[in-house]
Amino acid sequence: MRLTEFAYKRARDLEEAFTLYGHFEEKAFFLAGGTDLVPRLKLRMQKPTALIDLKGVKELQGIKREEGFVRIGSLVKLYDLKRTQDIRASFPALWLALEVTSCETLQMRGTLGGNLLQETRCLFYNQSRFWRNAADDCLKMGGDKCNAIGGQACFSNYCSDMAPALLSLEGQVSLVGPQGERQIPLHELYTGNGERPFRILPGEIMTEIIIPDQRTRGAYEKLSLRRSIDYPLLGVAFSAVGKTGRLSVGAVGPRPFFYAVDRSSEEAIEQTAEHASEHSTPVTNTVLPPLYRKRMVKVIAMRLMRKVLQGE
Ligand SMILES: Cc1cc2nc3c(=O)[nH]c(=O)nc-3n(C[C@H](O)[C@H](O)[C@H](O)COP(=O)(O)OP(=O)(O)OC[C@H]3O[C@@H](n4cnc5c(N)ncnc54)[C@H](O)[C@@H]3O)c2cc1C
Repeated sequence: MRLTEFAYKRARDLEEAFTLYGHFEEKAFFLAGGTDLVPRLKLRMQKPTALIDLKGVKELQGIKREEGFVRIGSLVKLYDLKRTQDIRASFPALWLALEVTSCETLQMRGTLGGNLLQETRCLFYNQSRFWRNAADDCLKMGGDKCNAIGGQACFSNYCSDMAPALLSLEGQVSLVGPQGERQIPLHELYTGNGERPFRILPGEIMTEIIIPDQRTRGAYEKLSLRRSIDYPLLGVAFSAVGKTGRLSVGAVGPRPFFYAVDRSSEEAIEQTAEHASEHSTPVTNTVLPPLYRKRMVKVIAMRLMRKVLQGE
């Protein structure tokens, strides 16, 4: 499918990226690897007047260890992150999530920032305009009703494999925009509303993803139809230091969420897994039934916590 017409601009630094963005009066999109954005443009889900390519912006590259934190540039490619020394040993949940994200060809193109800012997905929405025309516009298209469940809320699915892994590692993100710089816990990036899933201001650029530099034990497991090149229909991560940890769940609703776990008893594990399952909001907008995905939250969460906390 052919792309529509738009201007293509390469920014050399952040300043130039903001200037270019201002020039196109908020009708521009930032481009990283393009593996999420370009298919959306081809399906005519968005029609920007310009793409501002961030690949040449040096400030967004590289991985640093500084003052007890690992700071990962948002333009770092998933493949490069996966192969970075010590990622596997110190952050196993992240490494395992990287390993099962799509396929290595896409990992060599897709970036960490782009992964976190990928749009939510829905079986009824991620289709060609021709196919979408079969029904009225849904909430995400500017209509007044969800085509999946018929209600007034959008539960399109946030399918990032990186988000649960980074939430389990107490990840933060740094955002820089025309109004200045801010650093927020990753979970605050999400609105919980599939129509507009991110709390990111017009023109803001994600610059870094920051995690505490400590040795963790952890695991990640995803539910998908195929074993590669497939989005998660549920992604569960667990990371721990000593007897305390964080369980995080993604791809069962418009935002990922987490629970702090401070005991390793069987009772605590079962209770946390039960809460996580109750909290998840899968609906009939993917190829797997919502009830099955909801039940699998508990199954996988218990499996991961037992493995990491009890060494099973
Ligand atoms: C076939 C296929 C399979 C896939 N499978 C998976 C999977 O299994 N798991 C998974 O998690 N994902 C999957 N993806 C989604 C996607 O490819 C990856 O998430 C990838 O990491 C996105 O990164 P990108 O750099 O290509 O993002 P882009 O497409 O360049 O950008 C994504 C969005 O983020 C914005 N953006 C990007 N960087 C910044 C920044 N620094 N600041 C502000 N805004 C920014 C863009 O404007 C755009 O809206 C899949 C995609 C495809 C096509």
